[in-house]
Amino acid sequence: MGIAHFPGDGTTLEQLMSNANTGLHQVKLAGRNDLQFFTPIVQERSARSLRLTNALHQAIQRGEFSLEYQPQLELSSHHIFGAEALVRWTHPDLGPVSPAEFIPLAEGCGLIFPISQWVMCCALQDAHSWTDDGSTPLTVSVNISATQFERGDLVLMVIEQLQAEAFPPDRLELELSESVTLADPEKALAQLEQLYVHGIRLAIDDFGTGYSSLSYLKRIRAHRLKIDQSFIRDLAVNEDDRAIVLTIINLARSMGMRTIAEGVETPEQLGLLRRLGCDEIQGYLLSKPLPQAAFVSFIKDQVPFTLPFRSSGQQIG
Ligand code: C2E
Ligand code: CA
Ligand code: CA
Repeated sequence: MGIAHFPGDGTTLEQLMSNANTGLHQVKLAGRNDLQFFTPIVQERSARSLRLTNALHQAIQRGEFSLEYQPQLELSSHHIFGAEALVRWTHPDLGPVSPAEFIPLAEGCGLIFPISQWVMCCALQDAHSWTDDGSTPLTVSVNISATQFERGDLVLMVIEQLQAEAFPPDRLELELSESVTLADPEKALAQLEQLYVHGIRLAIDDFGTGYSSLSYLKRIRAHRLKIDQSFIRDLAVNEDDRAIVLTIINLARSMGMRTIAEGVETPEQLGLLRRLGCDEIQGYLLSKPLPQAAFVSFIKDQVPFTLPFRSSGQQIG
C-alpha cells in the first residue's frame, strides 16, 4: 500500500493518487507486503529507480555490464573448485550501480531476461578459458531470479547457451533463492527437474532467509545449500547463529547436499565453520569477486590454496 496525505502531499486527486502510487511502487521493489508513506526520500528514490530503469534498456548494447568471479574453496582439500559469477553495471554518469539495486528493477520491467542471457553467455565463455592449461575444471555458478521461472523458457535458454558454447552441463551451477517455488510451485519444480535431468547443478542461495518450505526443498534436487551471510557475520559471538548454521549443515547432509558458507571474512568464522562440519566457503577471507583476468591469475597462483595464517604462524581452520 502507498499512502499520500492531503494537503501536504497534494491538493488534487491526481497529485495524491500519483504520490501514493510512488509509495506503492517502492513497496513492490522492496518485496511487497508492506506500506509506504510518500516522503521526499521516497520521491528521490523513485526518481533514481526511473532513471536507472530507463538507462538499463541500453546497457547491454552499450557494453556497460561486466562480470566478476568470486572463488569458492573446499575445506577438506583446500582446492578452489568453482566461482560465482556476479554481474557489474557501470552507468555512464552515475558510475557503478550495485546488482542489489538494479536486478530488482530489471525483474520489474522484464529486462532480467536479456541481462540473464548475457550473463550466462559471458560466464560460460570465461569459464572455458579457466582451464586452458589442462588444470582441473572448475564449476561456474550463475544467479537466476525467481521471475525467470514464471515465463517458462528458462530451461531452453540455459540449454541453448550450453550447446552454443559447448560447455559441459555438470560444470554449470544455477543459484536460486528459496522463493523460486513461491509463485507457482509446480511450474517451478517442473523446470528444476528438467535442469536436473540435463545434468545442470542447482544451489539454494541465501538459505535460511526466506520462508522455506521443507516439503518443496526435498523436491528440489539441489547439489548444495548456500548458508546466508547473515548467519555467518556474528558466528563468533552469537550462539543462536551457531545453532542455526549447525542445523542447516545437518539438514543438508541428511538430504545428500553440500554446504557452502557465504560472506566468510575472518579466520574465527572459518575455524568455527570447519568445526561445525561445513564443506566449503566463499568470502573476502579467500578473495573479493575478481574481474576475469585477475581471477585467472588467482587460480593459477593458488593451487592448492593456503588459507591465511594467524600471527603465531599456526595455520587456522
Ligand atoms: P548473492 O548471490 O547473495 O551474492 C553475494 C554477495 O555478497 C555479492 O554482492 C558479493 O560481492 C558479496 N560478498 C561476497 N563475499 C563477501 C564477504 O566476505 N563479505 C561481504 N560483506 N559481502 C560479500 P553483489 O555482487 O553486490 O551482489 C548482490 C546480489 O545481486 C547477489 O547476492 C545476487 O542476488 C544479485 N546478483 C548478482 N549478480 C547477479 C546476476 O547475474 N543475476 C541475478 N539474477 N542476480 C545477481
Ligand atoms: Ca548468489
Ligand atoms: Ca547469497
